[in-house]
Amino acid sequence: MNALADRFGRVATDLRVSLTDRCNLRCTYCMPEEGLAWLPKQDQLTDDEVVRLIRIGVERLGIRDVRFTGGEPLLRRGLVGIVQESARLAPRPRLMLTTNGIGLERLAEPLRDAGLDRVNVSLDTLDPARFTALTRRDRHADVLRGLKAAAAAGLTPVKINTVLMRGINDDEAPAMLRFALDHGYQLRFIEQMPLDAQHQWDRHTMVTADQILADLEPFGLQPDSVSRGTAPAETWLVPGRVDAAGEPARVGVIGSVTRPFCGDCDRTRLTADGQVRDCLFATKESDLRGLMRGGATDDELAAAWQVAMRGKRAGHGIDDPSFLQPARPMSAIGG
Ligand code: SAM
Repeated sequence: MNALADRFGRVATDLRVSLTDRCNLRCTYCMPEEGLAWLPKQDQLTDDEVVRLIRIGVERLGIRDVRFTGGEPLLRRGLVGIVQESARLAPRPRLMLTTNGIGLERLAEPLRDAGLDRVNVSLDTLDPARFTALTRRDRHADVLRGLKAAAAAGLTPVKINTVLMRGINDDEAPAMLRFALDHGYQLRFIEQMPLDAQHQWDRHTMVTADQILADLEPFGLQPDSVSRGTAPAETWLVPGRVDAAGEPARVGVIGSVTRPFCGDCDRTRLTADGQVRDCLFATKESDLRGLMRGGATDDELAAAWQVAMRGKRAGHGIDDPSFLQPARPMSAIGG
């Protein structure tokens, strides 16, 4: 088996597939109110093309985890079929989904039946009015119903992704953790990264991992003895609490900016228009769609994917004064 190895000894086994750049929310830190210039339909991979590239990743390049994202992946009409085809691959990859939860109430069971293993649901606030202000859509109740449906369907552990922002929702860390513990969800705080379409990210006002952990002090978090491996989240145990499976409850912090984990990165990314990215912050992409539509064989596509990953930089460089924000925003890369 050929691997997606880079020059620094890292091997990518975790594929993030963006299924669309569109979203039904307009989170202020992600997208402008009017949305973005969406990818033309003909530029997007068809369902068959997506499945073909996933198959090449799994069968020839050692991909073991596939996470569907976007944009909002539940908006992709062919999602259930794509999951079903991916679940038939050998060796069967673990299949996960990152979603805003809107529509998950209806889709959780079909997705589980198709072979989806787990979901991460993004939720930044427990306050419905704040949710509406933050996302510019009145859909808080839909997200809560989506979370419940995911747990009921067994897409567990159901994880919640929360981005805290100063003056907006940074007072909610303890309440979010209590909510997650009470419902058996696993909470992950994500440091805000410079990936917004509006380029308004500010290093000086972002809520850091240190700040989040200070806010969670009343919970008496304990270091987690389970090795983090290549996972982006550092996790802590919450004394006296168990999760839905009866295991010690955990909370995670993804400190992409102040506690980067690039040295252990095992991710490769595929955009909805078939471009390979070796990093969220990559400024270069490799065009697999063009090759595929030009008649490339599976071997040729696998080789091009390998070449694309060889060039992965040692780190994302956010702390480097010469750091350049990538041209595509998070929603178009696949978060
Ligand atoms: N629509 C799906 C969702 O809401 O989960 C998937 C895509 S969304 C871009 C994935 C995650 O990225 C969400 O949890 C969102 O909060 C997070 N996100 C968006 N912009 C971000 C940024 N600048 N820094 C950190 N996380 C961000």
